Amino acid sequence: MTATPNDLRTVDPQLADLITAEEGRQRDTLKLIASENYVSSAVLQASGTVLTNKYSEGYPGRRYYEGQQYIDQIETLAVDRARAVFGTEHANVQPYSGSPANLAVYLAAATPGDTVMGMALPMGGHLTHGWTVSATGKWFNAVHYNVGRETGRVDMDEVRDLALRERPKLIFCGGTAIPRTIDFPAFAEIAKEVDAVLVADIAHIAGLVAGGAHPSPVGHADIVTTTTHKTLRGPRGAMIMATEPYAKAIDKAVFPGLQGGPHNHTTAGIAVALHEAGTPEFSSYAHQIVANAKALADELQSRGFALSSGGTDNHLILIDLTSKGVAGKPAAQNLDRAGLETNYNAVPYDPRKPFDPSGLRLGTAALTSRGMAEAEMREVARWIDEVVSALASENSDTIEKTVGQVHGEVSELTGRFPVPGLG
Ligand SMILES: *Cc1c(COP(=O)(O)O)cnc(C)c1O
Repeated sequence: MTATPNDLRTVDPQLADLITAEEGRQRDTLKLIASENYVSSAVLQASGTVLTNKYSEGYPGRRYYEGQQYIDQIETLAVDRARAVFGTEHANVQPYSGSPANLAVYLAAATPGDTVMGMALPMGGHLTHGWTVSATGKWFNAVHYNVGRETGRVDMDEVRDLALRERPKLIFCGGTAIPRTIDFPAFAEIAKEVDAVLVADIAHIAGLVAGGAHPSPVGHADIVTTTTHKTLRGPRGAMIMATEPYAKAIDKAVFPGLQGGPHNHTTAGIAVALHEAGTPEFSSYAHQIVANAKALADELQSRGFALSSGGTDNHLILIDLTSKGVAGKPAAQNLDRAGLETNYNAVPYDPRKPFDPSGLRLGTAALTSRGMAEAEMREVARWIDEVVSALASENSDTIEKTVGQVHGEVSELTGRFPVPGLG
């Protein structure tokens, strides 16, 4: 950044230093957190603009404030691009993030006290699918399906039995730690049988769906919610897409039901991300994410790691470290010291506590955005193996030496793959 009288570095050097330090951290680490990504320079630019100055409660053409000549066009662009990329009848790009988007769905399609159904959080579901600590679990009668103890996969017969028994108003499919393809047609059939509204929460896989690397829920789910900042590679935000019968209720639920003015700078960033998502390059990126995850999974398995569900169909891998004699948290912490950023995560039927679980969750979207491919994934697997093996030795000298050595090798790799958005 070159300093001009009003720029951030001059006005607030303390904050500018922190951002610069975070830029360096992002450049120098391997981002393997499944919910994160690196956005393009274009998305960053659109997100950091004067659009943040504008209030625009309402929708294009129907606002409560004047001066919407350009904001209306920006939001309309974002909506049109969302509809084109995902092939949906209706799109709302105003939700502040994924959790408020899901809350808007409850407001649009259910009444407090209704029965709702989703995947259990410890099995890979999301808090907002009715988990107890979430408002959605407190205000609704939530029931949950699991994954098979042996298969690690959703058993559609179990889902159907639960739905027939509980007769939920809403059925959520999707989640945060699902390494396998979601069977949208099967969920749709069950929802139809029990007269439930099917909500596909594709927060994690939206980029794969947009790029044709995961089947689309469109045509099966009544309502589709997604964050915009995970595999879709946009700014932090969310969208709700729906069939025409739900369009009005969704819009009313987002505003005025739940939110005030939309974050127009974010809407602009979403529009840019959706423009990128419509390109052939994005489709290649989406397919490479899956190829990379498969390469990483194969190499981890050949090194004796146990993977939940035995592998992956998408961007996500859930390692069960139990057989390695190492817990998830120390593994994640020491991998981070070695330059590999992951998160510890519960595995299905985890005997350990959620804050100190058995698993490690990995995703390949961010490394794919840096241009890394299968060869780099095999290196990543080797480094994970080396750090975890060192931890299993419980020898602090071995641990320190291994972390240092891996960190050196990681630095060599990160130096060769620039971060999008950081030039
Ligand atoms: C990330 C995620 C959300 C929530 O998104 P936030 O932006 O963190 O509120 C909702 N549902 C699923 C399945 C997610 O993975």
